[in-house]
Amino acid sequence: METIRVIRGMRDIHPDQALWWQRMERRLADTLRRYGYGEIRTPLLEPTALFARSIGEETDIVEKEMYTFQDRDGSSLTLRPEGTASVVRSYIENTQWKKEPVSRLYYLGSMFRHERPQKGRYRQFSQVGVELIGSLEPAADVEMIDVMVECMNAIGLKDTSLQLNSLGCSACRPNYRDSLVVYLKQNQGDLCDNCRRRLDINPLRVLDCKAEACRRVADGAPKIIDVLCADCAGHFQTVRKGLENLALDYEINHRMVRGLDYYTRTTFEMVAAGLGAQNAVAGGGRYDDLVKTLGGPEIPAIGFAAGLDRILLKLQDTIPEPASPPNIFVVTRGEAGWRASLELMRGLRRAGVQVCSDVRRGSMKSQMKQANRRGARFVIILGEDELTAGRVTVKDMHAEENSDQKQIQVPREDLHGFLLNRLGLLEGVVG
Ligand code: AMP
Repeated sequence: METIRVIRGMRDIHPDQALWWQRMERRLADTLRRYGYGEIRTPLLEPTALFARSIGEETDIVEKEMYTFQDRDGSSLTLRPEGTASVVRSYIENTQWKKEPVSRLYYLGSMFRHERPQKGRYRQFSQVGVELIGSLEPAADVEMIDVMVECMNAIGLKDTSLQLNSLGCSACRPNYRDSLVVYLKQNQGDLCDNCRRRLDINPLRVLDCKAEACRRVADGAPKIIDVLCADCAGHFQTVRKGLENLALDYEINHRMVRGLDYYTRTTFEMVAAGLGAQNAVAGGGRYDDLVKTLGGPEIPAIGFAAGLDRILLKLQDTIPEPASPPNIFVVTRGEAGWRASLELMRGLRRAGVQVCSDVRRGSMKSQMKQANRRGARFVIILGEDELTAGRVTVKDMHAEENSDQKQIQVPREDLHGFLLNRLGLLEGVVG
């Protein structure tokens, strides 16, 4: 029979890899808690209209990357391609602004985009996303960028650079857009097919096209920060001052426009060295009009999302792998040994230790083999002899072969204390 394989662009995460994920997620949650952000968990499925309306009909995501299907009642559903739209949907649905003036939320989970898979780009990928809803002040922008940098620091990501731009607002962006279209039309002959097509529908996206010729055109294009309205220019100045106060290095990237339509004013991205073409690890910006666009009041907001799969690729090249906690393997002899091991193991597990035994009930030799394969730090041997004598044999797998510490007889009732005090094993694993 033909075997069933994982869907293209999607992956299984096996236990050794999951240790990396767990460590990263723990550190992120811990950092975000310190900044006062609470976790929100929204459904993976949303009505398709949510993304069409927020991300924008003319974007790559909505045009060609969404996993959209019809539900049994005929309504159109989509697997979320990003998290902000869902958070805002929930914010509006729960009239959250009546409960708190400012909402600080984060999410962690899978997103789905039907992109061309390659290293660092998948069709199911994980993001941590952070949203700060309810402030128009540059203070919010500075907090958000600081949170992003600190999250990346906390997980150990190094060699990153921060890029900053402003996309203006509904007052100044249309003028910029017009002058950009004029310029791009003059240089139309040098643009790739895709950009020529985008020229009228989404001209700003031409600025971040990766094709060499388009990049050259983009380099000479008018710069949006030169034509911001007074409010947007003042806002951007204050954000820059705040970042300088925090001694956060950044560079202005005139070509950074981001792929989603809802962004306004400040946009930012973090790029990491050593990741090839897929080097953007995190990005975000203001979305002052989105709450209103989705049917809520006029409430400004800012947020970012970081791509965790990509970050992990880089971490695995640069930081030590997570240490596995010490574990114990219980080897039993005979029916009585096995039965006595059950309670012993439960006691140790309740004390916080990782304990396994051979559920296939193999020979002593095969049990020892399994203990070795699991990298057990200690092996506890429980057989008829031990039971009659009221003790267990503890083998220290790290001790020298002939040392008197290699194999020790311990009274049953002293076992916990023995492991804790003499061997220091329980330290760091209990609780
Ligand atoms: P975006 O939601 O497009 O602003 O993306 C935010 C971050 O998510 C990017 O900087 C990437 O790190 C990550 N990301 C976006 N798309 C993918 C993908 N297909 N595979 C892996 N990571 C992705």
